[in-house]
Amino acid sequence: MKIVLASSEALPFSKTGGLADVAAGLTKALAAAGHQVTLITPHYPHVFPAHAPRLPTRARLQVPLGNRTISAHLLRSEFPDSNVDVVLVDQQAFFNRPALYTEGGSDYPDNCERFVFFSRAVIEAVHRLGLEPDVFHANDWQTGLIPALVAHEYRQLPGCETTASVFTIHNMAFQGRFPASAMELTGLDQRLFNMHEMEFYGELNLLKTGIVFSDFATTVSPTYAREITRPEYGYGLERTCQAKLDRLVGILNGVDLADWHPATDPHLPVRFSADTVAEGKAACKQALQHELGLDDRPDALLFGMVSRMTDQKGFDLIAARAEDILRANVQFAFLGTGERQYEDFVAELAEKHPGRVAATLGFNEGLAHRIEAGADAYLMPSRFEPCGLNQQYSLLYGTVPIVHAVGGLADTVVDLRPDTATDGTANGFVFHHYDANTFLETVWRAVGCFLHDQETWAGLVQSGMRGDLSWNRSAAAYAELYQKAITGLYVDRGLTPPGSAVPAGAAAMPGAAATPSQSPPGDSPRAVRGNK
Ligand code: ADP
Repeated sequence: MKIVLASSEALPFSKTGGLADVAAGLTKALAAAGHQVTLITPHYPHVFPAHAPRLPTRARLQVPLGNRTISAHLLRSEFPDSNVDVVLVDQQAFFNRPALYTEGGSDYPDNCERFVFFSRAVIEAVHRLGLEPDVFHANDWQTGLIPALVAHEYRQLPGCETTASVFTIHNMAFQGRFPASAMELTGLDQRLFNMHEMEFYGELNLLKTGIVFSDFATTVSPTYAREITRPEYGYGLERTCQAKLDRLVGILNGVDLADWHPATDPHLPVRFSADTVAEGKAACKQALQHELGLDDRPDALLFGMVSRMTDQKGFDLIAARAEDILRANVQFAFLGTGERQYEDFVAELAEKHPGRVAATLGFNEGLAHRIEAGADAYLMPSRFEPCGLNQQYSLLYGTVPIVHAVGGLADTVVDLRPDTATDGTANGFVFHHYDANTFLETVWRAVGCFLHDQETWAGLVQSGMRGDLSWNRSAAAYAELYQKAITGLYVDRGLTPPGSAVPAGAAAMPGAAATPSQSPPGDSPRAVRGNK
């Protein structure tokens, strides 16, 4: 398959969040599986890593943006050890800035122009480079316009009628909402600015646009895909998601095992595998206790937490119950930054309990790895969690996760119960009601198991370490979905899909044509957190 994946950030070229990891991890895994993959991303000179190649091409683009035409260049780069074709859109006025989206706490005022431009530039680059993709895969609001451009412009071109689009939502809280006047920038028919398609309560909403016009929308875990159809998690777009239900799929993000694997991790004092975890972890735990000034106590249960310190990550529960938890033979290693109240809380806790609580306020990649390796258990009581990476790192590093059953946490962590203990699937501790007492009870279950039933604990560690969390598994699921989207377009047009037994004229898949799915009225107008 020929795949074009568009993303406003991709590691190692740029990063503000998990999207950058997905753009790199998924494209590399798809290419390794034999697909022809092009990743298109903006060129941000301020953050571009010195070691990565940036090769000029002769390709120059003229991109329509409202009543202007903006010119841009294409550069080529690459990932080491991968044949993903990386194309960088170089447009200095839009992307040569200190940050990607936000500076000094405020969004760039021209973010709509910048990313409408980028979305159109992706389509222009595809033409200019003669890529002829089978599928466009767009991600988050920054490229939410692409599925609309594919449905209303690209597919009208001869030979492009069966090009599919897939759109991935990484976080519903960031929607790309702009004044109605921004519709003019898109170059699309003003009639699409209606509540079933691109409008959200009088504003242009680019996340909604991506959901509505894509052949399939995906999000980053199966449970989050269901959650976003409910008002608690839908951030006002729950009705749009409900209308898309038969074309809304959750695919769990993978982990980049080149960066996160205890057998090869350069940040660890001792490396280990599932076979050597007992000794390896004991050594990593002792080294971590030394590094953080914790007492040298192999018998204490060491909890790790590497996180943004916010309500989303469950810090209100930690703040409510940390003193109770400290009545047992436990230690805490906190690393993170975030809301002032929680930074102060962990710093004061560390001051009050020297040798038992360590609080590192800041960003420290190496320490994040050493906490994952040296801690016995990992706390992740998030209020909501689209996918979550740290519980997956914890599983891989033999660190038993304690999580709230939401989003990707519910999909990756299996609670220790009699049945899951017997069949060997248990790999952690899970609670269902988000309140301080339920959280505390769950922590007590973990403490009891660690202190009194080491055999069961070792079973949890093994089960976590032996699971498949690689990108290969996720990439196979995406490839299957791309194929389903393409097949649907062929069938809709009465064509026989290449290499398929589905006969021409067979029943069309519902809603697969350029016509967007019908989003019912009544999406609630609740505030979203912004445009990231
Ligand atoms: P989110 O993207 O919502 O913050 P995830 O669990 O999906 O949460 O990913 C967070 C990532 O950021 C993880 O890789 C985590 O290790 C890393 N991280 C968060 N805070 C820090 C920190 N202070 N130092 C190092 N790494 C951090």
